[in-house]
Amino acid sequence: MRKIASITLAMTMTVTVMTGCGSKANQVVDHEGKLQVYTSFYPLYDFATKVGGDKVDVVNLVPTGVEPHDYEPSARNMAALEEADVFIYNGVGMESWVDKVLSTLENEDLLVVEASQGVDFIEGHTHDHEEEHTHEEEHAHGEEHNHDEEHTDSVDPHVWTSIRNAKIEMENIKDALVEADPENKDYYEANYNHYATQFDALDKTFTDTLSQFENREIIVAHEAFGYLCHDYDLTQVGIEGMNADSEPDPERMTEIIEFAKEHEIKVIFFEELVSPKVAETIAKEIGAQTMVLNPVEGLTEEQIAAGEDYLSVMAQNLEALKKALSR
Ligand SMILES: [Zn+2]
Repeated sequence: MRKIASITLAMTMTVTVMTGCGSKANQVVDHEGKLQVYTSFYPLYDFATKVGGDKVDVVNLVPTGVEPHDYEPSARNMAALEEADVFIYNGVGMESWVDKVLSTLENEDLLVVEASQGVDFIEGHTHDHEEEHTHEEEHAHGEEHNHDEEHTDSVDPHVWTSIRNAKIEMENIKDALVEADPENKDYYEANYNHYATQFDALDKTFTDTLSQFENREIIVAHEAFGYLCHDYDLTQVGIEGMNADSEPDPERMTEIIEFAKEHEIKVIFFEELVSPKVAETIAKEIGAQTMVLNPVEGLTEEQIAAGEDYLSVMAQNLEALKKALSR
């Protein structure tokens, strides 16, 4: 054991020397008393930034422009989390890596926040090819078959696509910041209340606007909008299931095209962080147009630079929904 420890130390020192060369990477950073907050992916980053204001430094683990479904933290992320005060994640299986990461961390002072606590969860489709395996097939695959891959959770993790749920997540984040930094309780609460009012107003605009349409069906890139649809009595049909990484098969494509024809759908939604190819193929087939409906899983560099946030992207989603439903 002792030997392993000293080797590890030697390696750490080597790395220190290499990265320390000409940079400030290894100086003790003075955070000016600000809470060091880490979030797993974009909406949580946005909510933490809104509530934390200038009392916190918020770092988002999933890089800008990266789709979070297949993300895994790097060694550098792990090192950063050892120094963090607060770690905020969505939960409900959105971050498949989170249990492993949290059990590995030695940071005993880290306040861990599962932001979706208190949300009424709904079920969604996975469209996972593995689900179609029969028992016989499983046996035929024998030892090689990875059991974990088949167990696809049917609870929908995309809670933040409901503005009401997003507000719950923001409130959980506010409570955590107050717990970690009670001196600034009033500040965090004032920020929360300020944005909660805006969330309520946007939710009301969605309700008022969307209730006017007779058509209630939308075709989306992946089934990320279950909670949004639940709030406003819409129905989503996904080219892909709840995981944006699964590949649609020809059967699914045919189903979507039939559904689109039946409901005279004129818009096929795609997302900015995944390829629009399949949406374009379907749109061409039925003479529809493609349009973005953003699941707010992550923003692009351009959107961040333009100052976009959860509220502005959701407002754009409402405009897109209006166009898609007025047919
Ligand atoms: Zn998703």
